[in-house]
Amino acid sequence: MKKSLVTHIAVMVVAVVLGSYLASYLTAQQSEISVNRDKLSKAPLGGFNKFASDVQWMLFINYAGGIDCVEKPEAEEIYNRLNTILSNDPDMEIAYNIGGMMISNSDPVKSAEIFMRGANNANLKSSWQLPFSAGFVLDRYVTDQDDPQRLKKAEEMFRLAASRAGDNAPYITSALLKTRAKRIAQKGKWSNIPVVNDEHALLCAMFDEWRKGGGSEDGNPQASDSMNIPDLKARLLKAAQDAKASDPTNKNILETINKVMKVVSEDQHLCGNCLTPYAAGDKFCSQCGTSVVVYAVCPKCAAVMKGKFCSHCGNK
Ligand SMILES: [Zn+2]
Ligand SMILES: [Zn+2]
Repeated sequence: MKKSLVTHIAVMVVAVVLGSYLASYLTAQQSEISVNRDKLSKAPLGGFNKFASDVQWMLFINYAGGIDCVEKPEAEEIYNRLNTILSNDPDMEIAYNIGGMMISNSDPVKSAEIFMRGANNANLKSSWQLPFSAGFVLDRYVTDQDDPQRLKKAEEMFRLAASRAGDNAPYITSALLKTRAKRIAQKGKWSNIPVVNDEHALLCAMFDEWRKGGGSEDGNPQASDSMNIPDLKARLLKAAQDAKASDPTNKNILETINKVMKVVSEDQHLCGNCLTPYAAGDKFCSQCGTSVVVYAVCPKCAAVMKGKFCSHCGNK
């Protein structure tokens, strides 16, 4: 009798030890399989979270169709419903997209938060729309009073979107450069040169991207946080022209242009007035008519040199 009691207790102890061991092993296995488990709602749905979120989503659409406008109270309601839906299914991409969009005007801070949450979800990392929308709302609708870090966050989001979209979304690049320019303008200085206007700031932003890409002709997509901006060199030249045109005699702008062109366009000959490239033998700028320094002409007959010898007079 006594012996069997001891055996009973021994078996129970072993079972408890094994059970807790197995439980911790299974939990580890489970979180490997279901990465979002810790984000899931703790409501007792018996594993039917996905089903619940689908029903809640249908009710959400129904609610959204029934309201005439989205003001603060509606935005609050939408945000709460979204949180419930997303706690049952954190991977429901459409909920982030539509929900975030619906409250972007009336509550941009919460809208940006929804979009960023979606953008940072590891299971949705093929979506470039989520980080793009996050960047857009942060840049356009959120104010500095709401969040002093909004432009920094917006730039990060646009960068994330660009890295996911590849080469086929040039407007993401434009949005990124504009946001970066705003940050530079806000700082007021770039490379110790005071920034005087938006065109100037955009030129600085582009040159930063150029330097990040290693300064090669077509950027350097391998560099960690640089991206492949098509025609960056041509865009830099255009930005320099725009900056000069915005305030032709401003010494800060001229200093920046000098700095940029020395690195970017050493092989090109540019009109000193409007920065348009000109060809060998040109005496005047074809864009603004300013006389330019003639290059690559035969010193004897002034014909344009195409090779070693002048094709006109044979002079070497
Ligand atoms: Zn010119
Ligand atoms: Zn000649």
